[in-house]
Amino acid sequence: MKINTKCVQGGYTPKNGEPRQIPIVQSTTFKYASSADMGKLFDLEADGYFYSRLQNPTNDLVAKKIAELEGGTAAMLTSSGQAATFYSVFNIASCGDHVVSSSSIYGGSYNLFAVTMRRMGIAFTFVSPDCTEEELHAAFRPNTKAVFGETIANPALTVLDIEKFARVAHAHGVPLIVDNTFATPINCRPFEWGADIVTHSTTKYMEGHGAALGGCIVDSGKFDWTKYPDKFPGLCKPDDSYHGVTYTERFGLSGAYINKATAQLMRDFGSVQAPQNAFYLNLGLESLHVRVKRHCENALAVARYLKNHPYVSWVQYPGLEGDKYYERAQKYLPDGSCGVVSFGVKGGRAAAEAFMGKLRVAAIETHVADAHTCCLHPASATHRQMTDAELAAAGVSPDLVRYSCGLEDAADLIADIEQAFG
Ligand SMILES: *Cc1c(COP(=O)(O)O)cnc(C)c1O
Repeated sequence: MKINTKCVQGGYTPKNGEPRQIPIVQSTTFKYASSADMGKLFDLEADGYFYSRLQNPTNDLVAKKIAELEGGTAAMLTSSGQAATFYSVFNIASCGDHVVSSSSIYGGSYNLFAVTMRRMGIAFTFVSPDCTEEELHAAFRPNTKAVFGETIANPALTVLDIEKFARVAHAHGVPLIVDNTFATPINCRPFEWGADIVTHSTTKYMEGHGAALGGCIVDSGKFDWTKYPDKFPGLCKPDDSYHGVTYTERFGLSGAYINKATAQLMRDFGSVQAPQNAFYLNLGLESLHVRVKRHCENALAVARYLKNHPYVSWVQYPGLEGDKYYERAQKYLPDGSCGVVSFGVKGGRAAAEAFMGKLRVAAIETHVADAHTCCLHPASATHRQMTDAELAAAGVSPDLVRYSCGLEDAADLIADIEQAFG
């Protein structure tokens, strides 16, 4: 089936007389006839549900659809994108380990890695997404367990050279994890370029309406953990907290990683997505292929308009001819990149603030990637504690406006921008 059909029909095929739309299983717990039946679930010997902190049938249907969209073998939903990022790394790296990450990633991911996970004893080395292959090799250590990057980084809009990062990760015997939130599987499927694990903040385009937080982790099933049993003991050696189950033996390469994350991390941290939110997410997925196309059309129209505007000093959009990442985007994102455009307002900080104050269609929000056009001036919002010098070091200029194109008519967005400059 083509990806457009998977968006609508993936994950769930009702049998005779069953509901057309996925049922919301609004239950914390599940009933069994005997303790022996339940015991089998606790030993991971039988498939089934016992408590919604670990797994819920609604969530599993939606995760299955996302696995189909990405071309993976297994997936799990999480309560937020942050939880997905954390689990994706913590599932294979623990205290004393090391991870290589692109420096151009979502700010929340950067903070999670550089501050919180570092406090847990995991070291991170950040490399430029544009580093040479030699520089990338040099970042590895004997205890490196994973490489992390973002297909299109939020908010820097850099495009990751997925093939290169995958090749170097594999040369060192570790998987490449890619946050595919901004591209979505409609525009890029990182597994086709060698990535091993994909994460999402489903809060963004996937749910798409600013209604429900969520995250997702998908496994390609391609990384062979058993080639490196000493590097990945959690997957290749018995888990004492589950009666000695060895995940790669019990679930094979297709299911080991996700089953371990569910059995250990969901059990112990409980960042499960509410089934009601999974239902909203599924509604969003049903139109993802239609919406993403429109988001990208609007963004390209806005980027082209801004590029020639006398009050605009620079425009960044990977789909715009002449952009620093245009060539790479043509390779990895030939059908479109994302709906977010960054640009500089001539006159700097004050001019950017004045411009945004006059917008009527675009709302000022700490959000991106939903149906409603929104924008943010990082220098006076997310990055407001920083001086202009600190902003420059963080790659955020004082004049930068991050503009997330929604699903409105591009002509109305452009007219709104035009009047705000007036
Ligand atoms: C928003 C975002 C996240 C974090 O997701 P939440 O759902 O807000 O927790 C992670 N990665 C990217 C690229 C994002 O845009």
